[in-house]
Amino acid sequence: MIKKRNLVFLGAPGAGKGTLAQELCKEKKLAHISTGDILRSEIKKGSELGKKANSYVTSGGLVPDDLVADMVAKRLLDNDCQNGFVLDGFPRTVNQADLLEKALTKIGRKLDGVVYFEAAEDLLIKRLTARLVCKQCNTIYNTIFSAPAKKGICDKCGIELYQRPDDSLETAKDRLLIYNEQTAPLVPYYKNKKMLATINAALSKDKSYPELIKVLS
Ligand SMILES: [Zn+2]
Repeated sequence: MIKKRNLVFLGAPGAGKGTLAQELCKEKKLAHISTGDILRSEIKKGSELGKKANSYVTSGGLVPDDLVADMVAKRLLDNDCQNGFVLDGFPRTVNQADLLEKALTKIGRKLDGVVYFEAAEDLLIKRLTARLVCKQCNTIYNTIFSAPAKKGICDKCGIELYQRPDDSLETAKDRLLIYNEQTAPLVPYYKNKKMLATINAALSKDKSYPELIKVLS
């Protein structure tokens, strides 16, 4: 059994933390928690927190950090979190991290560790822009994992593949910019608290997963 089970996964978009979180949670029976899921479920249930959050969502605003932190803490009281949890994509800012700590203290829990998935920016860009789609048959290619035989051309139709706007270089750069401004400061933040373990996110999944288990054991 792994020793550290109350976790935050930290990393830029494209670092692959979601995939490893999924695998870890399945194998070690931890709850995989994303704030998007919590938000949707609280709003659907019409709970007190959900109603408050919905008033921001419907007006097109951002749900305030303290409200999100309270929702996360409430979610961690659920049965499936008692063995441990991975927070994936939260906290995203230092302010959220402070609020999370307070919210956890309130419910008598604390983080055991934060795993940082480190990768160079050029690799992240390569991963974020790897997807190409065929307009005619909708086949999805990935230039890293499942490239077409002829560069940029659909294997089946022989026509040129295109890139969805979400996968474009421009979008990738925007996402990384936001990450660097808002989320990257959490690396020194958790380092100072002696909670940070770093995983080389450039490794393939079958190499990085054993690394992950090692730092949590
Ligand atoms: Zn095609």
